[in-house]
Amino acid sequence: MIYKRSSALFAEAKQYIPGGVNSPVRAFKAVGGEPIFVKEAKGAYLYDEDGNRLIDYIASWGPLILGHAYEPVLNAIIDKAKKGTSFGMPTEIETELAKLAVSMVPNIDKIRFVNSGTEACMSAVRLARGYTGKDKIIKFAGCYHGHSDSFLIQAGSGAVTFGSPNSPGVTQGTAKDTLLAVYNDLESVSQLIKANKGEIAAVIIEPVAGNMGCIIPTDGFIHGLRALCDENDILLIFDEVMTGFRLGRGGAQEVLGIKADILCFGKVIGGGLPVGAFAANNEIMGYLAPDGPVYQAGTLSGNPLAMSAGLAMLTELNNNPEIFTSLQEKTAHLHIGLSKALDKKGIPYQINRFGSMISVHFTDEPVMDFATSAKGNNDTFKKYFHGMLDQGIYLPPSAFESYFLNDALSYEDLDATIEVVDNLDLS
Ligand code: PLP
Repeated sequence: MIYKRSSALFAEAKQYIPGGVNSPVRAFKAVGGEPIFVKEAKGAYLYDEDGNRLIDYIASWGPLILGHAYEPVLNAIIDKAKKGTSFGMPTEIETELAKLAVSMVPNIDKIRFVNSGTEACMSAVRLARGYTGKDKIIKFAGCYHGHSDSFLIQAGSGAVTFGSPNSPGVTQGTAKDTLLAVYNDLESVSQLIKANKGEIAAVIIEPVAGNMGCIIPTDGFIHGLRALCDENDILLIFDEVMTGFRLGRGGAQEVLGIKADILCFGKVIGGGLPVGAFAANNEIMGYLAPDGPVYQAGTLSGNPLAMSAGLAMLTELNNNPEIFTSLQEKTAHLHIGLSKALDKKGIPYQINRFGSMISVHFTDEPVMDFATSAKGNNDTFKKYFHGMLDQGIYLPPSAFESYFLNDALSYEDLDATIEVVDNLDLS
């Protein structure tokens, strides 16, 4: 494929934007080469500035679960935009989206909208600290909860891809309140709780992790975590920015059969516009301003365009829950096909899948935490990524990311993808 115009646009972007991108993972640092500039997209396909068509397995990193330029979402945005784009005053549509989200997600009474997943997680932790009167939090190595200071401690996703899981600029003062545990290792959590008795406000976790590839929680781990939190008066925060409205109507809580105390959302809830949210029961949310003392605010929070996109998206998912089954079946089909194709190559690999999240790791060890994910062979991954891209298949440009399937992908698209893997030389 030819990427002449993308390359020229990247060169120009680098003169005005640090690294030429507005979010580091887009720069292809982990896989080498140059990013592709998108012109437009429809359904499962991206069309780049050079006229290439790519089958998209990222879907804007998750939000576009029904594919690009999905008509009901587009129409909702267009209709709303004609009536004004921002008021900084309450609007009815905020309550409509809140009501729908609360009806879909188990165990929440109220929800507050913000502009990103980062803001959602940052505010959820502040709320947990305000509610419990404690300062420390436990997070898991390789989990990513956005780029606010407290979370850039052994973070996954772009942070690790970019080689800086601990970012300069995060003060020691902040870092000391974030304790690090090992995913799928209850004992590591237990030890931290014992060593910091009475000081931990919350444990925050991606209930199915997607930022060190897709990592599946073992049954005992996630239920054990709930029990540990209950025994020690610690709040359990599920960061469902990736899993919310993707794994099912009620997200990971519903699928895993477990209740969290505070939930964070992003991605799908905004239908492709910048929306995040955090939610809990009445008692916890009662601590939030203006009802309570924990401050949190936003000029564009609850923005009418963003709310209309979110409402159209969640309405589709709520009315057609078979979408989740369809997505799971498509992901399973891809999994089987990829396994068959990779088996023939005689190289070690693992495929992790949960619902419509899936990742391929070039290692012979099961991948169940950050350390095992980091053992993947990055040279093979680079060959795989670029080999696929050359044939018009757009995968996440890092081994530490999950693919996000969208329901516009057809079985023909999946089979075409599998065929490309079949023909790849990964030796
Ligand atoms: N939490 C999780 C689990 C995420 O995957 C992400 C982003 O990928 C975030 C939080 C941060 O969301 P945003 O990029 O919208 O700030």
